Amino acid sequence: MSAATRQVVVGKERAKPVLIGGGAPIPVQGMTKTDTADARATIDQIMAMADAGCEIVRVSVPTPRAAEAMPKILAASPIPVVADIHFDWRLALAALRAGVDKLRINPGNIGSREKIAEVVTEAKVRGVPIRVGVNSGSLERDILQKYGHPTAEALVESAVRHLGYLEELGHEEAVVSVKASDVPTMVAAYRLLSKRVDYPLHLGVTESGTVATGTVKSAVGIGILLAEGIGDTIRVSLAGDVLEEIRVGREILKSLDLRVFGPTVVACPTCARCDIDVMKVAAEVEHRLKDVTIPLRISVLGCAVNGPGEARESDVGIAGGPGFGIMFKHGEKVGRVNEADMIETLVDEVRRMEAERSDG
Ligand code: SF4
Repeated sequence: MSAATRQVVVGKERAKPVLIGGGAPIPVQGMTKTDTADARATIDQIMAMADAGCEIVRVSVPTPRAAEAMPKILAASPIPVVADIHFDWRLALAALRAGVDKLRINPGNIGSREKIAEVVTEAKVRGVPIRVGVNSGSLERDILQKYGHPTAEALVESAVRHLGYLEELGHEEAVVSVKASDVPTMVAAYRLLSKRVDYPLHLGVTESGTVATGTVKSAVGIGILLAEGIGDTIRVSLAGDVLEEIRVGREILKSLDLRVFGPTVVACPTCARCDIDVMKVAAEVEHRLKDVTIPLRISVLGCAVNGPGEARESDVGIAGGPGFGIMFKHGEKVGRVNEADMIETLVDEVRRMEAERSDG
């Protein structure tokens, strides 16, 4: 959420445009995994992603049939849509004419100067921002030859080159990413890039892996940069469920206090001192309160060692004892709950707090 970057507006024609950069709240982006030509399936997935908290959605447009589906998708999407295009300038023009909210394209990859100019000018006239998305797996041959392999410097050189095409044509509403699949290279590339340009930065670890490893790599890579004040929007890519990508993205922002997305459940890892089924209570409470949007801290700890201290710091919390728990509310001890009633009691209490806040 760097205030030092310029600001780009995505979805100017939509009821709720999304701001990227210039100190705006960091939006979570996602990408559909459907065949874009299947408009119905793509719309259904976008709806589910938006419900899960995705704020900007990217769809691949690899074929004319996919481009033909774009008007339907754009009309139905509740959030701004980015068309992801490689090589074929005609698909970029089709997506722009369909009214896409943002284009992800690397201008240097779409052919002659004339073709680049046609696409970039059309985007500029329509006020559509462009994301230059450099990826360690698809660097230009001459840059790879110069650096030997996709180093941080190579990624940045490619990004600056693509941005140069836009600047030559007077289109400076751009967002830029330099994604690598290994975290040290990705972190080094973004650090370097943030010193070179003031465009908003889209952070991500590309091809990060399965849900478990990809979540860790994304959280480490994106988290390091965000903690240094680098990065204006994020996307987590996992070889897994599309909704999991959104959930992880939101948790990364929540964990750094950069965004507020409903309650945080603090739970201990349990140990030999544990007196209650912490895992079951915490997981069930988190699941039952998924729809709550107010920020709350809920703690579930297994014993009297750390439980009371943590519970006192929470809006509502339970510190376990043998078969029961001591309940705290806003730092005060308010009573004792049987283990069998803990889940219902915590859920009811949070619902009450939610109702009070919406009344107040
Ligand atoms: Fe163990 Fe208690 Fe710490 Fe939980 S809070 S890990 S039960 S010492």
